[in-house]
Amino acid sequence: MRARAYNFGAGPAMMPDAVIERIAREWQNFRGEGYSAMELGHRSEHFADIHARAKADLRALLGVPESHHILFLHGGATPHFAMVPLNLAQPGQSADYIHTGYWSDKAMAEATSLVNVRIAASAAASEFDRVPERAGWQLDPAAAYVHICANETIGGVEFADYPDTGDVPLVADMSSNILSQPLDVARFGLIYAGAQKNIGPAGLAIVIIRDDLLGRVRSGVPSVMNYARHVEWDSMYNTPAAFAIWVAGLVFEYVKKEGGVVEMARRSAAKAKCIYDVLNASQLYTNRIQPASRSRMNVPFFLREPRLETRFLDGARRRGLLNLKGHRATGGIRASLYNAMPLDGARELAEYMTEFERRHG
Ligand SMILES: *Cc1c(COP(=O)(O)O)cnc(C)c1O
Repeated sequence: MRARAYNFGAGPAMMPDAVIERIAREWQNFRGEGYSAMELGHRSEHFADIHARAKADLRALLGVPESHHILFLHGGATPHFAMVPLNLAQPGQSADYIHTGYWSDKAMAEATSLVNVRIAASAAASEFDRVPERAGWQLDPAAAYVHICANETIGGVEFADYPDTGDVPLVADMSSNILSQPLDVARFGLIYAGAQKNIGPAGLAIVIIRDDLLGRVRSGVPSVMNYARHVEWDSMYNTPAAFAIWVAGLVFEYVKKEGGVVEMARRSAAKAKCIYDVLNASQLYTNRIQPASRSRMNVPFFLREPRLETRFLDGARRRGLLNLKGHRATGGIRASLYNAMPLDGARELAEYMTEFERRHG
């Protein structure tokens, strides 16, 4: 067994070994300065360098065009459920939402008091087993924006490609699949992502916003909720999450060194295939998501006999396969396969699943 376990938790999630080792090295004595990485001052030259490099690396990794700003903000993904309508829509205007499960639902619920939420497409009728077919979406050309959740972390439903919404800005919550594949950022008005799935420490959020949208903020929005204010202050309107930004930068360096998002996409497909192959051939495990919408990042599944769940989880834990318990809203099992999960981790889980079925199927 590896010294470090394979952590299949959905977030805060596994980090690359190389990043953990680097943090350990600099934890007590940051760059030989005699202070801890935790004490890194946001006005220091070190931080100016770290921040600039993190932005430049993220811009290079995703090919973020000059028309879009990159922000590192506090509070994870959830504040953006409200900040998006506050910044992109006037009171009484309507916005289109694509309803694909738990997180798009949360985004809609939060936006309801701030904007006229229109459900342009929903997979509720089929119990969120897919991304609704693009042909059936009823988009409003006058909408302030179209909101999607690129990957439903709990349901295990992911967009296979992103829609063209014409002149209406496309807004995406990419918390659980950002940096896992190449992206045409120019097609998005705004992308937001909590860091704790594919980037770094919880509490940090990445926002990528198109410059011309900054002028749409409604009046009376507090500064910390105003994207234009954060752009103006280069993410330092108040003390930035300096340590978390440093760690995010280390992850960007790691992704670059490993071959960038093209390589992350190749690995993600290989890891997901390991698990879905077992599910497809199984009499014991079930996954009810339509194949075209299955997430490469989060694979939820159920055991035909729920009484076996505890035994499955206990056996997994003994093999160093951790945090496979499904979300409390759904139960069952969930394997999260973010960038930091090695292919060997997915292989070991697939082997364990096969062996468990042989014994209990
Ligand atoms: C985890 C997650 C969130 C919530 O993130 P917080 O950092 O807890 O606010 C929102 N959307 C998606 C898709 C997520 O996976």
